[in-house]
Parts: sequence; structure tokens; C-alpha cells
Amino acid sequence: MAKIETIRHSLAHIMAAAVQELYPGVKFGIGPAIENGFYYDFDFGEVANSKSEILNPKQIQNLKFQIPKLEDLPKIEAKMRELIKQDIKFKKKIVSKEEAKEIFKNQPYKLELIEELTPVRPVSIYKSGDFTDLCKGPHVKSTLQLHSGQAKEVPEAFKLTKIAGAYWRGSEKNKMLTRIYGLAFKTKKELEDYLKFQEEAEKRDHRKIGKDLDLFLQSDEVGKGLILWQPKGAIIREIIEDFWKKEHKKRGYHYVFTPHIANIKLWEQSGHTKFYKENMYPPMRIGEMDYQLKPMNCLCHVQIYKDKIRSYRDLPIRYCELGTVYRYEKEGVLFGLMRVRGFTQDDAHIFCQPEKLAEEIKGVLDLAIFMIKSFGFKEYKIDLSLRDPKNKEKYLGSDKIWKKAVNALIYALKKSKLKYNKAIGEAVFYGPKIDIHLVDSLGRTWQGPTIQVDFNFPEKFDLTYINEKGKKQRVVMIHRTVLGSMERFFGCLLENYGGALPLWLSPEQIWIIPVGSRHKKYANFVNEQLTTNNLRTQLKDENETVSKKIREGEIQKIPYLLVVGDKEIKSKSVRVRERGKGDTGEMKLTKFLEKIKIESEKKK
Ligand SMILES: [Zn+2]
Ligand SMILES: [Zn+2]
Repeated sequence: MAKIETIRHSLAHIMAAAVQELYPGVKFGIGPAIENGFYYDFDFGEVANSKSEILNPKQIQNLKFQIPKLEDLPKIEAKMRELIKQDIKFKKKIVSKEEAKEIFKNQPYKLELIEELTPVRPVSIYKSGDFTDLCKGPHVKSTLQLHSGQAKEVPEAFKLTKIAGAYWRGSEKNKMLTRIYGLAFKTKKELEDYLKFQEEAEKRDHRKIGKDLDLFLQSDEVGKGLILWQPKGAIIREIIEDFWKKEHKKRGYHYVFTPHIANIKLWEQSGHTKFYKENMYPPMRIGEMDYQLKPMNCLCHVQIYKDKIRSYRDLPIRYCELGTVYRYEKEGVLFGLMRVRGFTQDDAHIFCQPEKLAEEIKGVLDLAIFMIKSFGFKEYKIDLSLRDPKNKEKYLGSDKIWKKAVNALIYALKKSKLKYNKAIGEAVFYGPKIDIHLVDSLGRTWQGPTIQVDFNFPEKFDLTYINEKGKKQRVVMIHRTVLGSMERFFGCLLENYGGALPLWLSPEQIWIIPVGSRHKKYANFVNEQLTTNNLRTQLKDENETVSKKIREGEIQKIPYLLVVGDKEIKSKSVRVRERGKGDTGEMKLTKFLEKIKIESEKKK
């Protein structure tokens, strides 16, 4: 069987052939294989205005209604299967540039490619049935090979999935074409598994969950890429932050606060205005000074360190801050909570002696892995992100300094017995780093903790300490986050749990639902018992049916719903409905309290 990429790309040709039959006069863009499938870009706009001689007036009349919509995809797909069954051969032909121009004379996009992409060389074209494309290949030999494994079976391992607008050659200056996407796998089973995965991923989309559960929003009136946390989202954030602070204090960090703007001179000195300019907002002039909205917290922490002469006895110094930063991102890449323009990093900077560096990195690795496990991520992948050796001018500092930094990271990874991959070109401009990617319950990976070693800022800002011999010595700096940013991490949590957060993170843990109005007093008593034990509850005593309240509680993914009526009052109990399990029966209130207290303290 051919390579999956070849199959995917060949299917793009077959889709184009099918579209050509169904929409005569369509203009073709390009049709590559992509992850999990393929696409082809079409210009249907031309079809409606086409005065092509191959069409009679009635056909032209009909064309106005022929720009395909989502519901037309099955029709295109059926045509593809029909073509595949005919066992069409892919035939390659080498032609001169002039011949190619003649062949594609009605295809303006192909002509543009011929003109620009093939200055003098001969042009390779592929013919499959009635469809001819400008293409280097490779393709399957014939459509028989597109069958899903068994030779005579009708191929089923592909599916057209969506239509989207796409600018010709990705540039906003060009015309918007219509892109039709398809999925394709080697077997029907793989396709079905992927569709199931996608369906599950859509259900877990944090943007949808954020809206359904009233956790956060974005508003065009505030600005793109800026997050507004709703009260329920803010409760979760507060729990995460409290846990984070407690754990950092335990591990010898000092909590600090720094401003959102600062003199731009700091960023000139650090090299940010040179190496990081495209991610920074323009400065604002106040009096005689230009202030920069901070893209990173580092330089403020550097100033705190520099406030005093430090001795080796003071080191390591670990400053941590939940510091909000602003980075410019193009509108096209903004994505929910994952890619935003303003976010709060769970940041820290460690200043230590060079000989203690590896030990410090190991400490950070321990903390990072403890944190992600505490929040329910069982698996992770580690990258060692290095400089691109071909592009050294993009980075600050000498080869010697980079080597030292990389060696320290490798040493700490080995000491911690952690496996890692090398990621060339993924370092930040001032140093190499360890990137930990979280693997969620669907097996998808998300950017998590990062640990960066930096010998460069200590040089630039002359950061020193007095060593054992009473001499001034250069300190080393570690930049690190263990969650990443509050926004992105929150998004990961929502996707990982599909919104059904564990008890300790749930903004509303328990709803108490009285059956009738005569049960309200007891329901209130139950509620008081729970709230005095620091549990987050809601007394649902509005005039609605019990079943409606239960339904609403399930939609809101409330971990426990307690129903109380005559029977429960009599036996001082509650009827428990547990999320995902339904009615688990009656339980003594005292027993439920004991159980829930233990469970809410467990991080699971
Ligand atoms: Zn091709
Ligand atoms: Zn930093």
C-alpha cells in the first residue's frame, strides 16, 4: 500500500476531479496532503460568471446556485467514490513551460504558479481521468490503490469534513478561495477512531465549556485576545493560585509584586527591543520617559535582586510572582485561552551560584512535575529546547555560555531520571530551556512548565554576589513557570476534564435540592452543615421541579446533588446523586460530611 501522505494527496486530485465534473468552469488553487487528510482550494466565484463555451445558457443559469455548502459535501464525496471505482490511472507527463501555459490557459492560479515557480525548467503535470493538475507528485498509480486495504472493496477510509475560506497563497491581499477539507486514513477503523476523537475533542473545547459553565468570556468591546474571568472562573483561579502560593512558600520562594509598565530602557538593556520587538506593544510616553507594557516579569525581579549587595549565604534567592504580561499576537493565531494577548504567568526567577545551578534546576523539575500531577495530568513529554546553530544571530551570548547552560539542563534531567527530546531552534533568545508538555486525557499535548537557564541577563545587568573568598562573582539566573500562564493552564484543565473538574477545583461542589417547600428548612440545615465545613454549595430552593434542578445540575457538572424529602428528614440523611454515577442512594448526613471532607482535600 502506498504511503498515507501519497494516498491523501492523491485524494485531493480525485476531489478536484469530482468538483470539476460537478461544477464545470471551477478554477483550481492547490491541493496538498495535510495532517490526517487533505484539502483543495477552489475558486467558484469564477464559475457563476463563466461564459465558457462548454456550457449552454441553462447550465450557466444554474451555476449561480452552485457554490457548494457543507450539505453539498456528500454529493462531492459520492462523485469521488464513483471515480475511484473506475480505477483511474495517474499519468505523469513532462511538458515545456509554453505547453503548460496552453494546457492551463483557463486556470489563472495555475498560470501564476507556472510563471513564478518554474522559471525555465520543464513542468511536470499529472492527468487522472479528465482532470489535469500541475504537480510534482508522487501519487498512487491508480485509484484502485485508494481502496481501504482489500482490493475490491469500495474505499471508505476518507470523508469530506468542512468548507472554509482561505486566501490564495495565504495572503490577505489575494482573493478568498473556497477550501474543502477531507480526512483520510489507511483503514476505515482509523477514520472512525479519528472521527470519534474529534467529536470528543469538540465536546471538550474549553471555549464552549467556558461559555456553558459561565467561567470566562472575551468581548470585542474590551479587545481581542483579552480574557474576562466570570465569578465562577475566578473561584477556580483563586484555588489554583492559593495552592500554587502555598507550595512555593514551602519550597523557599519569596512572593513579590511588580508593576505592569516600566521604563523601556530596561528592555533596551536586556535586548528585548532588539530580539523580541515583534511581540511587544508600542511604548507610551509619560513626561520625559517611554514606558513599556511589560512582556516579561524578569527585569523587575532583576531590579529587586540588585537592590542590595548579595552574599553567597543569601543564595539561592527565589522570587515568584503571578505576574501579568502583555504580548502582541496576530489576530489569526489568537485562540480561546490558549493564545491570548494579556496573561498572568506563574513566574519565578532564581538567582544562584553557578555550582548550584544543576541542583536548582532539579528542584524546579520536582516542583513542576508535582504541580502538573496535582492537577490531574498523569503523563507529560519533555523537550530540551536548543538554539538553531544556523541562526546564531537570533540569540544573545557566546557559544561558551550556551554550552554551559545546556550542560546544566542535561545534568539536571539525568539526575531526575527524566527522558527528553531535543528541540532545535526552540530556545529563547537569552538561553536554552526545558519545555514540559502536558498530555491530556485524549492524548493531546499542551504547552506546560518551562525552565530556562540564563547567563546572559546577569552579564547585561551586572548581577553579582560576594563569594566565600570575599570576591564579587557573577550569579546565574533561572527563569521558570510551572503552570505556564493562568489562562492557558485553565484552558488545559477544562479540556482535560471536559469541564467536569475534580471536587477540590469545582466552583460549586454541592447542590442541595428540597423536594417540596416543607423540606426547605431541613435543606437549609444540610446547607449550613456543609458550608461550615468550607464546602462550596448552592441551596436550590426556587420553585422548580426536582427533575429540572437535577438536569440543570448535571449540565453544570456539579459533583454532588443532594435531594432531601420526608424520608431524609426522618432519618437525618440525604439522597446522593454523584456526577457521572447518578443516584447512589441514601446516606446519613454525618457520613456524607465525613466522606466529602476527605474527598475535597484529595487532589484528584
Ligand atoms: Zn499531485
Ligand atoms: Zn524571566
